[in-house]
Amino acid sequence: MEKIHTITSLPEEVENKLQGKIFHAKSYCLTISEEKEIASKLIEATIIQKDRELTDEELEYYYSYRERLDEASILVETLLEAKRVMEILGFDHDSLIDTLSHENSHTNKAMQLGANFGGYNFLLIKDTDGGYLITPSATTSIPEDWSKEKKEEAMTKIISAPDEYGNKMSEMDKMELKIRYGK
Ligand SMILES: [Zn+2]
Repeated sequence: MEKIHTITSLPEEVENKLQGKIFHAKSYCLTISEEKEIASKLIEATIIQKDRELTDEELEYYYSYRERLDEASILVETLLEAKRVMEILGFDHDSLIDTLSHENSHTNKAMQLGANFGGYNFLLIKDTDGGYLITPSATTSIPEDWSKEKKEEAMTKIISAPDEYGNKMSEMDKMELKIRYGK
């Protein structure tokens, strides 16, 4: 069989691992209405956490929604793996470059500030015409022991980072700032 030409060539083991993750996410991909329901639950959790910590019951409840998102997602560690995932998923060249630089700006800012970077994530949602809607994101988090003010300052900078790097904040970034901090 002829080998399919690929732009990004990764070791076979890594390529197989990525193909496996994509297969998994496609099998568990969400419908648009499922994604809406999950997103609204997670927003609800974020809003509660502005005032207080979640109770154990709440944690468990909201975590089950988080898990469904994770099942429908492809999470990779490196920029090169993220690029390869987008190639396999059929991103055109321009949107691939744009997405990489956008997500990388969040990542760079998180690292600069000493926050945690947890990888590049691609959430798959089934389109009405049988294709996939793909939501990329950089997974970042703030160390738990930082003060509330320091957390907010860092998170605001991480979410707004694309603006600073000459890329544009996405609608999702803007919504996140609004939900978290009313900015
Ligand atoms: Zn963004």
